[in-house]
Amino acid sequence: MVGRGTLAVLLVEIDAPGDGPQEFHLVLLDNGRTVALADRIGREALNCIRCSACLNVCPVYERTGGHSYGSPYPGPIGAVLTAQLAGMHATKDDPNSSLPYASSLCGACFDACPVKSDIPSLLVELRHQHTEQAGASAEKLAMKAAAAVISRPGLFTVAQKAAGVGGRVVAGRDRKISRLPAPFDGWTDSRDIPAPPQQSFRSWLASGEGEVTLQAAAEEGARLRDDPRHEAATDTHEEGNR
Ligand code: SF4
Repeated sequence: MVGRGTLAVLLVEIDAPGDGPQEFHLVLLDNGRTVALADRIGREALNCIRCSACLNVCPVYERTGGHSYGSPYPGPIGAVLTAQLAGMHATKDDPNSSLPYASSLCGACFDACPVKSDIPSLLVELRHQHTEQAGASAEKLAMKAAAAVISRPGLFTVAQKAAGVGGRVVAGRDRKISRLPAPFDGWTDSRDIPAPPQQSFRSWLASGEGEVTLQAAAEEGARLRDDPRHEAATDTHEEGNR
């Protein structure tokens, strides 16, 4: 018996009457490793020595525990290896396809890893592969629409104002949205959305008050840059982080 992702070499000799074995069978089980090795980016995960350092620093693993990964490999490297070795699209709702998203991409795993596997980049690559292979979806269409709006500042401002007004109307007097229609209802299943504020951050920044605050922050930054005591304190802080 070998676990998923284990490279196994089985040598089987069949004894037969006479001088020595009559047949020789060599069986190789690579359990997805050849595919992972062929992946220029993903092959880095095979450097893992299973020390578990990345598990112990991962904020997601800390809260979800090992069983939630659904494979012998838990934690950040498990999210990479399981998706690589067992695939992410065995069924329509393959739970493995959620593994690359089980990370805040904080980078703590990369800092802790003794073989310096860049797990956050691997997870981003797997997310990319997942969205490429998943085909057309409502989420993909929504993202395309969002990209089209966000890349046009004038359109974005209009959309933001319309969403603000619409959100406040839906929120009503108690200033919170408790139920969204499908396919967004998953968001409100366990939490409310506060009503959008009257003034967006962008409009506040463009206002007189925003300009004054920005100017004051720039002056404070310049003053700190010229202050030798601040420079010494920054050096000490950086030394301590090394
Ligand atoms: S810290 Fe690196 S070597 Fe250790 S289990 Fe995680 S990925 Fe593997």
